[in-house]
Amino acid sequence: MAIMKAKIVVVPLGEVDFMMVNRLATNVGPIFGRSVDILKGMKMPDEAFNVVRGQFYASVILARLERIKANQKEFVIGVCEEDLYLPDEPFIIGSADTVAGTSLASLFRIRQEFYGLPEDELKVYSRLFKQAVHFLAHLFDMTSCRNPKCVNYYSQNMMDIDGKGEKFCDICKRQLAERR
Ligand SMILES: [Zn+2]
Repeated sequence: MAIMKAKIVVVPLGEVDFMMVNRLATNVGPIFGRSVDILKGMKMPDEAFNVVRGQFYASVILARLERIKANQKEFVIGVCEEDLYLPDEPFIIGSADTVAGTSLASLFRIRQEFYGLPEDELKVYSRLFKQAVHFLAHLFDMTSCRNPKCVNYYSQNMMDIDGKGEKFCDICKRQLAERR
């Protein structure tokens, strides 16, 4: 009996740029060899907002995303416009919970506007795609890659993200093939 492969579920959060999320949902499937569902959307959870920091607590959102899973094997990625944080980090551009099978990417700091530059949709989309693939790779139990050209490279800033490609390197491809 063939085992049905679990889907990737893309969740637009709050007032996120839907075109951007839609495009991500179209392109993220082939790289992992999975089919993709895109949900209508989910409100940003009020309880995740930290008034003092003016940011959303990523772990709370990741936990909320877990509740929308139709089955244990699904991998979820939420996309939002809001700024995210973890207690030990001033900010994060995304996060993954490998136990829950959920991940989250924020457009807040990958938008050119954040750096006072003119908006560049192509560049912003490419950054979102690369980061979403990187976070989803964690859910597939892949470790971050040391190859700065690989999409799965652990990127610490926009220069790292812009410098890496949109594909897995050969080592990551092998890792993925073993896991899926
Ligand atoms: Zn790699």
